[in-house]
Amino acid sequence: MQARQEKLPGVANIVAVSSAKGGVGKSTVAVNLAIALRDLGRKVGLADVDIYGPSAPIMLGVNEVPVPDAEQRMMNPVSAHGLQVMSMGFLLDENSPAVWRGPVVMSATKQFLRGVAWGELDYLVIDMPPGTGDVALTLAQEVPLDGGLIVTTPQDVALADVTRGAAMFRRLNTPVLGVVGNMAGYICPDCGERDDLFGSLSAEEISAALGAPLLAEIPIVEQLREHGDRGTPLTVAAPNHPVSQAFQRLAVAVEEALAESSAAAAGPEPTRILHDEQAGVVKIEWSDGRETSYTVSGLRGWCPCAQCQGHGGETSFVPVDNPELVACEGVGRYALRFSWADGHSTGMYSYSYLLEIAELPECKG
Ligand code: ADP
Repeated sequence: MQARQEKLPGVANIVAVSSAKGGVGKSTVAVNLAIALRDLGRKVGLADVDIYGPSAPIMLGVNEVPVPDAEQRMMNPVSAHGLQVMSMGFLLDENSPAVWRGPVVMSATKQFLRGVAWGELDYLVIDMPPGTGDVALTLAQEVPLDGGLIVTTPQDVALADVTRGAAMFRRLNTPVLGVVGNMAGYICPDCGERDDLFGSLSAEEISAALGAPLLAEIPIVEQLREHGDRGTPLTVAAPNHPVSQAFQRLAVAVEEALAESSAAAAGPEPTRILHDEQAGVVKIEWSDGRETSYTVSGLRGWCPCAQCQGHGGETSFVPVDNPELVACEGVGRYALRFSWADGHSTGMYSYSYLLEIAELPECKG
């Protein structure tokens, strides 16, 4: 596992909002999520590092430019709607061609995130550049991310996009908190009826593909764009709008998912995983000296994924005939993912879950 990078001083949690391509509403989600977290009473910053289309200044109606602090060592973020905001848009010349931006911005990134006097923040929301290529990866490697959100639209290609996004966060050792399905259907402004333009991306498909939940579905709503263009996000202008409420639920879900993954990170971690194929047993040695062991059939039957367990209700044992374990990999700092010979690999076994099921009769054998 990669060494932990130094945290941003004063910043408790960093959440990266990413998408496989531009125009899916990543910035809209980042901005409205930041406001919804603010509405939970949290101190929130927004770092807009989308070099290809920095939109925070417009979406938040910021006209001023950031200024350095008294010692000329750090830049002060700009305050807008109660958020501390820094955007590549403040630094980039609108006319500079996009091809220049990559190299220029890569060298400026460190200063961008670390050279800003963020102050004390509960959350820093990062509006990432679209894509999972080098630019996004380099940016994300500058600071340790506590969680990633993937924004997608429910077209056919979207599932492949989501999987690529999840793979990027895995490379960064960052837990994927979940997926936001944006532009999921159209709500008629006259009759209020909903029309699924592309057919909804199913929560089952998503959690089966990456073991992370669909945290919110945001329909196409004209006011969301209008308020964004006007510099007063919908969550500010109309907090009671159903879409604003969806963002508020998203903020709560993000907070819960972060708490869960940091609790997992605070507990013991596996230090060694041994698979005795002959005996059909997996042994895990933990950083606190504990040792747990599992029959392969017990491990498979207690697979926690939504495909095995469905949604809601108690987790139950789902037996599979002669399961064959083929691989095991770490996910972030909180879970292991097991792959099986029948192609099943969607179960993310959090460390706390692994410790819990070790006590169950099916795992003890
Ligand atoms: P990205 O950051 O992925 O490039 P943006 O957030 O800038 O995407 O959104 C692209 C455009 O789509 C913007 O004009 C935005 O206001 C609009 N938009 C985003 N989500 C929605 C939505 N759910 N309903 C209506 N318009 C939306």
